[in-house]
Amino acid sequence: MQITRFHIITQKIPTKYYPLLNELQLEAGKIWSDSLNLFFELFKQTGKAPKKSQIQKLVKSSLLHSQTTQAIQDRLFGALKSYFKNKKQNPSAKPPKPRKFYNLIWKNQAIRYKNGKILLPLSRKSGITLSIPLRKRKREYLEELLSSRAKIRQAEIVFKGFEYRLILLVKETVEISPPDRNKVVALDLGEIHPFVSFDGEEVLIWNGRLLRSYKQLRLKLIALKQKLLARKQKGSRRWKKIKRSLDRQIVKVGRKIEDLEHKLTRAFVKYCKAKGIGTVVIGKLKGIRERAKYGKNANQKIHLMWRFNKLLQKLGYKLENEGIVVVKEDESYTTQLCPKCGNRHKPKNRNYVCPACGFSYHRDGVGAINLFRRFMEKVSGSFNLPVDGLTRPRGVKYSPSSSGWVLPTLRNPLL
Ligand SMILES: [Zn+2]
Repeated sequence: MQITRFHIITQKIPTKYYPLLNELQLEAGKIWSDSLNLFFELFKQTGKAPKKSQIQKLVKSSLLHSQTTQAIQDRLFGALKSYFKNKKQNPSAKPPKPRKFYNLIWKNQAIRYKNGKILLPLSRKSGITLSIPLRKRKREYLEELLSSRAKIRQAEIVFKGFEYRLILLVKETVEISPPDRNKVVALDLGEIHPFVSFDGEEVLIWNGRLLRSYKQLRLKLIALKQKLLARKQKGSRRWKKIKRSLDRQIVKVGRKIEDLEHKLTRAFVKYCKAKGIGTVVIGKLKGIRERAKYGKNANQKIHLMWRFNKLLQKLGYKLENEGIVVVKEDESYTTQLCPKCGNRHKPKNRNYVCPACGFSYHRDGVGAINLFRRFMEKVSGSFNLPVDGLTRPRGVKYSPSSSGWVLPTLRNPLL
């Protein structure tokens, strides 16, 4: 089976480039805003939406590479398209806004890699090519990928909090022997434990304490920033100083969260591969949203939800990279139903005990077991899941010394 894998390589750009990048991002913002304004102007004049090619002919840059300009306009038209689509259902939908700055984007052939450096050309007229050295580890990673037919598809320079970052998207086509789709694991995503998994044999609880504490810290910093800034005059020296300092901390914590989420999802994919799993069943996010809606701290919950999406994205592309299929399954009441007799009951403490049949299990595992059963019943008509002899859930711990989550020894790694 041939699959397409995407790899993302990202790193900080040396500070000597900052003045130039600032200027270029201003120019990119101008392209965005000029194209946007022209779009609505022509729309008003002719009564019909102008084509992208029309705008591209009229709004050009003498500084940016023509492909960079086009890529910005592509994104603008993407934003306009979703605006017009939304407007049909929601008349108060807002059109895209003009931007002061915009990300710099290069595509395919415009990007070159030579002697450890990424070369990103500006306009022919300017004669400038940005040459960004990659750090040793990133360089080795990229070279290994490029040596096996992979291609750099996109380079993007973003400004995050207080620094410029380069993001490379590398596409690779590989031949793999697909894993067995009939080997299934159900994954329950939660606020306390990021993952609880059940593969028909055992429940694993993926510890999320560290991840959770960083998420809480991030929210606290955001709240603190709002509180402190509200007391100062906007744009004043003090205001700027506070903003800069807190943005810096928020970005740092955000990066730590990203890193932990990558490590967690990487460990889960490793587990799937070791067990030969071909299908991962995930509860539909609908459930989380419902749970979030009734929470006492709505904002915090909404924020967590957004984080779930980011975690799912990371998990999704890593699983796809291995040819593992992700299936979404309705997760309503999965934490309340008895996995043995189907009776619905809200657990009161750490243990789920069914008043109807006496089945008892650690409550955190019940959601994943039910999710697994629901999926198996659907695909095989009837499904008999023996849940009486289940062993207690085991924890997958985070270990800082071994760079991530450590799997307990699998009962039979050859399975
Ligand atoms: Zn029961």
